[in-house]
Amino acid sequence: MESFEELNINRQLLNAVADLGFEKPTPIQEEAFPVGMSGKNIVGIAQTGTGKTLAYMLPILQQLKYSKVYKPRVIILVPTRELVVQVVEQIEFFTKYMNTRVLGVYGGVNIKTQMGALTRGQDIIVGTPGRLYDLAANRSLLLQDVKKLVIDEVDVMLDLGFRFQLNNIFQLLPEKRQNIMFSATMTEDVEILINENFINPEFIAIALSGTPLDNIHQSCYLVENFYTKVNLLTHLLQDKETYQKILVFIDSKKNADRLFTAMEESFWSELLVIHSNKSQNNRLAAIERFNDNNARVLIATDVIARGLDLDDITHVINFDTPKFPENYMHRIGRTGRAEKMGHSILFSTENEQDAKKEIEKLMEYGIPSIDFPADVKVSKELTLDEQPRIIEKNPHKKRSYEVGASFHEKKDKNKKTHNLGGGQKIKIKKAKKYKNPISRGQKPKGKR
Ligand code: AMP
Repeated sequence: MESFEELNINRQLLNAVADLGFEKPTPIQEEAFPVGMSGKNIVGIAQTGTGKTLAYMLPILQQLKYSKVYKPRVIILVPTRELVVQVVEQIEFFTKYMNTRVLGVYGGVNIKTQMGALTRGQDIIVGTPGRLYDLAANRSLLLQDVKKLVIDEVDVMLDLGFRFQLNNIFQLLPEKRQNIMFSATMTEDVEILINENFINPEFIAIALSGTPLDNIHQSCYLVENFYTKVNLLTHLLQDKETYQKILVFIDSKKNADRLFTAMEESFWSELLVIHSNKSQNNRLAAIERFNDNNARVLIATDVIARGLDLDDITHVINFDTPKFPENYMHRIGRTGRAEKMGHSILFSTENEQDAKKEIEKLMEYGIPSIDFPADVKVSKELTLDEQPRIIEKNPHKKRSYEVGASFHEKKDKNKKTHNLGGGQKIKIKKAKKYKNPISRGQKPKGKR
């Protein structure tokens, strides 16, 4: 697309983007616009720097009619205060020629000022989930008229533990609304949030194909399970000359801790782990040790690794295979920088082969595989997630689960898939936790 005019946006918006010096929409803006206008739920996979703020704002602002109503119609949730300020600033630029009222709300400052600003009436509220919920709970912020909910940087938001606040906010919002969320990485937590709250979302991702990967040497191993991956990683890292500075990516905090515990004994002083449950000091100290070459191996989750400035990584190890191929691209991009050859090694189980194929499709490149070394032990130990799922029937419940056709259908209003959809899924998981024998893979090391 060659210009913003092709999107048929109104004159005020066209002038505002022209003033900002933007010549044409970025790929994510082009893709998000028609979906945003259609009113469908959107899940966008995009990093900062892609123009995602304008991508979700353009259709919202195009549809936002002038109104004197004092209850806000658009809510934008972001994980940090800094981002609240930044997004408010951007919206102010975009609405330079419109009569739009925007307010940023976040914790750590006097709530009364924000309450006062709300009584004057607002169209768009940008906020962190904690403060926004507090304002809604004390009824200074009324959410009944909200038509659009944007959740930006969802992965970071969930990693910081905002899930509870998000759920609380969902409960207060009208069910009929458009949900738009953006995340740079797709994590298990993000997927759960989508499944539980978003009906039929349209996925938008900018393909990263064509990314220069020439200076990254890629390979992969087919590995049986988590603890066999531990054995393989331990085996590879014995070669200190080849493996000099290694970043190990893993999908969740729980697995990061599990991996650290399993490797600690063999590599104690050389091994570091960081994720968002670690304190800020602890994280900073770990990064410093790694950057000063005082530790050789850093285990990190996708989300936390994003904000890190790490140099001279010789190897990226993908301990798991990202379900979203973009995550793999972000991971391996951490090596092979500044003209230096980097290496990426992917570990995947049989169950992860589909995800691996998706990655290869995106890159248009088949990752060369290496035979599993004969001298590495195949472990039979399974983590809780790897154990076969047994869903037990409740012995106290008389009625069979298979309800016949005569069983009356719920009335529409009682069906309520929205916001409640995943409740049962979670219950099954929790129940399972108590039933399985305690094993090494289950140690409650670090909260999730
Ligand atoms: P974001 O990904 O929303 O954080 O945006 C990254 C940067 O790109 C911001 O500084 C925007 O001002 C800028 N930007 C957004 N859209 C465009 C565009 N269409 N053309 C040029 N720059 C843009």
